[in-house]
Amino acid sequence: MNLLADSHIHLDDPRFDPDRRELIGAARRCGIRVQIVPSTQRLDWPRVESVIRPYPGMRAAYGLHPLFLSGHSPDDLPALEQWIQARPDQAVAVGEIGLDFHAADADRAGQQWYFQQQLRLAQRLQLPVIIHARKAMDEVIAQLRRHPDLRGVIHAFAGSEQQARQLLDLGFHLGIGGTVTYPRAQRLRRIVQSMPVERILLETDAPDQPVAGFQGQRNLPLRLLDVLHSVVELRCTTAEILSRQTLDNTCALFGLDRDRLLLASTDFTAN
Ligand code: ZN
Repeated sequence: MNLLADSHIHLDDPRFDPDRRELIGAARRCGIRVQIVPSTQRLDWPRVESVIRPYPGMRAAYGLHPLFLSGHSPDDLPALEQWIQARPDQAVAVGEIGLDFHAADADRAGQQWYFQQQLRLAQRLQLPVIIHARKAMDEVIAQLRRHPDLRGVIHAFAGSEQQARQLLDLGFHLGIGGTVTYPRAQRLRRIVQSMPVERILLETDAPDQPVAGFQGQRNLPLRLLDVLHSVVELRCTTAEILSRQTLDNTCALFGLDRDRLLLASTDFTAN
């Protein structure tokens, strides 16, 4: 069986309350052994922690998401730093953070302020960042240029070829999710075909971003396999090679001990 990593999945989302355990079990039986769960606001950090705690192979990112701006307060930043520092084994990144200028009335200045503060925090803590960028890719790239030592991933990348090149030059990874399964996503599919394989992370973003054929439905953890197969086809490689490479990429970026994690999650599956 090919072992896989989902670099971005919101397993704490209430839409998973009715059947979270079953869905996680089904994903593990399909080989998905590493899952990174990012958070969106301070209120939800304890929920993320309690969801991942029972599962070897799950890790968290803690942060303040731009779409939840109205719920953030400046006090959340020192609280975030303390929260992460108190959980060195579990908190592997600062995220999800970023900019979302999709709404016409988005508070761009407010989003920029929290984004900049959290980039500085990641730099201080020497952690990678998980970035949400929607209708704001150039603004995100401009901020990242001010932190040349930072590493991370642009989750659900949907930018242009030029933006992809700039991000790769900055040392960033691109998170490839359900969009790649749609034949009409030609620009993204071209990028996925030609980008360096060491910079690809696979993700579901479940319960959001359903894959082709499941539009309008709740996205599920095991649909990572659909993303994998689309990328395998585009790159004319094999599922074995690509799952192994992207698992290694995920572990390297987030500082995970691949062999220890896989051993632990095998034990879990057997029980
Ligand atoms: Zn997300």
